[in-house]
Amino acid sequence: MSPTTIFETHESEVRGYCRNFPTVFNSAKGAWMTDLDGNRYLDFLSGAGVLNYGHNPDRIKQALLGYLMRDGITHTLDMYSEAKRRFIEQFIEVILAPRGLDYKLQFPGPTGTNAVEAALKLARKVTGRQHVVSFTNGFHGMTLGALAVTGNGFKRAGAGVPLTHTTSLPFDGYLGQDVDTLDYFEAMLADGGSGLELPAAVILETVQAEGGVNVASSAWLRRLREITQRHDIVLIVDDIQVGCGRTGSFFSFEQAGIKPDIVTLSKSLSGYGLPMALVLIRPDLDQWAPGEHNGTFRGHCPAFVTATAALSFWQTDQFEQSVRAKGKLVEKRLTQMIDIPGLAAKNRGIGLIQGIEFADASLAGRVSAACFERGVIIETAGIDDQVLKLLPSLTIREDELTHGLDVIEESLRHVIGAQSKTKQKTQVAA
Ligand SMILES: *Cc1c(COP(=O)(O)O)cnc(C)c1O
Repeated sequence: MSPTTIFETHESEVRGYCRNFPTVFNSAKGAWMTDLDGNRYLDFLSGAGVLNYGHNPDRIKQALLGYLMRDGITHTLDMYSEAKRRFIEQFIEVILAPRGLDYKLQFPGPTGTNAVEAALKLARKVTGRQHVVSFTNGFHGMTLGALAVTGNGFKRAGAGVPLTHTTSLPFDGYLGQDVDTLDYFEAMLADGGSGLELPAAVILETVQAEGGVNVASSAWLRRLREITQRHDIVLIVDDIQVGCGRTGSFFSFEQAGIKPDIVTLSKSLSGYGLPMALVLIRPDLDQWAPGEHNGTFRGHCPAFVTATAALSFWQTDQFEQSVRAKGKLVEKRLTQMIDIPGLAAKNRGIGLIQGIEFADASLAGRVSAACFERGVIIETAGIDDQVLKLLPSLTIREDELTHGLDVIEESLRHVIGAQSKTKQKTQVAA
């Protein structure tokens, strides 16, 4: 019996990633994962952005082990713990204060979608309005409120009920590089005949990750901040996937110099793959009643411990600089790859979230499969899975990064080589 049979027999059909990477993983370190047969894979998926510091990073692991060995408390609901106290103190000292940011911290249930639900609820409560504006190809999670602001039609249909009180507007670049889509938003806000209610909030990812690596420009983000401020609309930046350093700064919106009203974080926040989520709230918006957005796992102390240890990467700007340097390397290689004769593709991204969009959507999946055969794990993104999405750990060594890029290029050449051969064959046959 194959080691994957038990999953295929007993685990729900809902399972996803395992279908593209059908092996049983057993251990992992840094940028590498190892399966039961001892095969090693270079990880360019990083748990969809959970493992920014790589697998089982030593300095975080030591903090966790020490905490467990001394019987540090694991669960407190949301009662005070020393682990939470230290995290809050360090997060303010290392992240918020140096960036001139002042937020209250809410720890919702430990998933990203829970943080999004909390953000949406709070924005609606504070403004007394119901409507929320989101953007084409945005992704915010699978619970009903988060789904209602998610673009993907397949995922939305899974709700089974109408998803209401939201309007999807064109994201930056959606109508081509020459159109500023905020002209449309602004005109609609100004016109009582537009059919758009004044929204409670606007929610967005500055770089749409699941949606296909769509990067909003700094100018567009600044204009959105200005419009939302002027109309007293709560600006929610969902930094769940592209925060925690992915774009080359701790928050993805730092480059634009904006201050959102609410920020959601999760995925890499714990630094170790432990579940944890955080909602950052502009202090005057913190109008929750005690226990109004509850949850059992809002005080997972081991996650606070690892999250605190992860902040050590942010004590100096060396880490950020290394992410930006590696991002430049990736960009250079991808720019070369899309120049392969006969290939219709574009590359884009920032920091260590980058992608190649193929005119022939099927190419992305085929390149991903060819990479897996060659020992590199890399996913596709976008509504037609037309984008090959590179998401290596931020701590990956440069030689490992180069190896992964070499494998991608080799796989790409293999896949389009094979394709052009079959095309020639059909031509000959015709
Ligand atoms: C992953 C993700 C979510 C949802 O997080 P879950 O932990 O899967 O609920 C929300 N927003 C963005 C931008 C994400 O990438």
